[in-house]
Parts: sequence; structure tokens; C-alpha cells
Amino acid sequence: MRVRVGARTDVGVVRDQNEDGYLTEAPLFAVADGMGGHQGGEVASQVALETVAAMARDQGSDLDLDAAVRAANEAILTRASDDNALKGMGTTLTIVRDEGRRITIAHVGDSRAYLLRDDELRQLTEDHTLVHRMVTEGKLTEEEAKIHPHRSILTRALGVEPGVEVDVDAREVTVGDRFLLCSDGLTGMVEEPRIEEVLRTTPDPQQAADTLVEEANRAGGQDNITVVILDFVERDPEQPAAQETHPTERVIVGGRTARATERVEVGPIPEARARGGWKRWAVRGAVTLALALAAVLAVRAYLGTQWFVGIDDERVAIFNGIPTTVLGIELFALSEATDIPAGEARDAGIQWHGLDDGITASSEEEAREIVRQIEEDLARSP
Ligand code: MG
Repeated sequence: MRVRVGARTDVGVVRDQNEDGYLTEAPLFAVADGMGGHQGGEVASQVALETVAAMARDQGSDLDLDAAVRAANEAILTRASDDNALKGMGTTLTIVRDEGRRITIAHVGDSRAYLLRDDELRQLTEDHTLVHRMVTEGKLTEEEAKIHPHRSILTRALGVEPGVEVDVDAREVTVGDRFLLCSDGLTGMVEEPRIEEVLRTTPDPQQAADTLVEEANRAGGQDNITVVILDFVERDPEQPAAQETHPTERVIVGGRTARATERVEVGPIPEARARGGWKRWAVRGAVTLALALAAVLAVRAYLGTQWFVGIDDERVAIFNGIPTTVLGIELFALSEATDIPAGEARDAGIQWHGLDDGITASSEEEAREIVRQIEEDLARSP
């Protein structure tokens, strides 16, 4: 068998920077989705991909993928400790290694590996996210998880703490297998049945990668999008063995493709035209007042069902409402204080930097789950 590869990374429609990256250096293929302020995310994904690529060049087929991912984690932590601007950066990393008749997958975070076999798409990796954990615990349905405002909170990533648990899985490969590696910029924007359809109906791997990226952008392109497609096809008897795998050797990070930022311009809102007599205005006034009253009641009812975890008096706390102040009125009330110091929570992982703005939850139970997760991360930090 040989592998045909298609790959593309794109900044998306909304973001200014592409912090994703990919590696297509046979036999290693990988996707990394970096996060962190300034250049942090871009650096984290690049350090991760380059660390594993360098180790693979060095050790060849002896490379232990689990060790390589852990080395990438160490490399990110070291780099972050050398440069204050990069503090708190992190990345996901999902790797597939072609081993002839089988592949090994190594995975941390919420980028994904899928297999299309017999026209059916199957996710091979488990998302290391808070919402996925809640789904497995029965606290959230799959459908609720898809639209959850904090579906991107990771429970595992590289660059968070020394020592990281890596999911490693090996599986047999047969001719016709098509693997997809992607960042959440694809899966967050394009539904799985559509991804499956594109993969089923687009034979050329590069064209399939391009189409998936374009579909994610058309759906809003709210995040960076990275797609790597691997097709296991019959060996070509005409070709010498050395060239049977894809010849590209590259780590691509932060690519901004030609189709990068098609922004939608919003034109000026047309001014309301003044017409009609006083009666019309009186009716309008009454209707407006009734609507305003209904709106206030609706907002109050809505706020009562909203929750978030934030900071009160430099301690982590659960609030009822939304983390917003309108015309000096706070749309939230303290529900429950904890004794977790805010500073320690921020240091426990990049995902907790959001505490300053409030991490919203759709129920009180969910807010408590977030606090439990912070406590768990704190217990594990050195
Ligand atoms: Mg992403």
C-alpha cells in the first residue's frame, strides 16, 4: 500500500491569526491546534509538530509515539518558561503514523482522527473536553454538547503541566481506507454527515481537503481550520519503492491560504422614515412600552436560568445570571463562593484564564462541574 495525502490549513473567516498547524512528513501525519495570547498558540503548535518530526527523523521506526508527544509537551513548557509572552500557551496534537499494514494514533486534546471505511465515517479519537466528559457521565446529550458555549474547554492539552497522558491506539489498515485528521475549526462548523458525504464523493484527497475547508468557511469559519487526508491505496508497480509514500516533507504552521479572509461588510442601517400622525405615535408608544415590559420580564426569566463561574473577591465563585453589566446594572448575582484562590486557578491551566470574564454554564449543576474540574486540575498541578 501507499499513502496519498491532501492537506490544508486556513485562518478561517473570523480570526486574525492561524494558530493551527499540520505535519505531512511520511510516515508521520499530524494536526495541532494551538492556543494562547500573542504568538503563543502559533508557537505551541509549531514546537509540538517540530519536536515530533525531529524525533522521527532521528529514531525512525524505533520512535515511541507516546514518548514523542510527552517530549513535545516538555518542549512547549520549556519554551514558555523562557519567554514571558508565551506563558500559558498550549496545543492539541493528533498524530497518525503509517506502519505499512497498520497505523498508530497518538492523541491529546480535541483535534480528531476519523476513518472512512465502506463509506462510513467513524471517529477514532476521544475529545479531551469538559463537554465530552459530561456527555459520557450522562450530564449532557451529544446535541447539547455540539452547541455548548464552552465546548472548547479542554481537559487535556500539551503545555499545561509537566507530564501528560497520551491516548495511543494501533489499528489495521486495508486498501481503500481514508483517514481524516482535523482541528475543531472543521468539526465545530460542518456536521459529520456532511463531512462524510464530502469524503465519500471526492476521490482526490487534496480536493477533499480543500472542499472541507471551504465548507467550514462558508458555515462561518469561526476558528482556524486544518484538514489532513490520508488515502491508503494499492501500490503502484510502476513506481520505485522509495517514492511510494507521499514525498512532501513539511511542517506547516499558521498558514493563511488564498481564500483566507472573506469578510462580510455590513452596510449602514437605513434610517427610519418619519410618517403618520399622532394616533400612530400613541399606538406605537403603547406597543413599545408593552414590548419593553415583556422584554424586561423575559430578560429576568432568562437571567434566572443562566449561570457562570467567575471571580469574587479573588476567589472562584458561582454566579447566577450572565457576566455582563448594562448601564451600570449587574446582570448577575453571587450564588456560591468557594475558597479556591483565583490566582491558583488561573495557573492551573490555560482553560481557566476565562474565569476573569466568567465561564458560562447552562445550569447550576454544570457550573459546579466546572468548579470540580478546576479543583481536579489544582490537585494535579505541582
Ligand atoms: Mg481550534
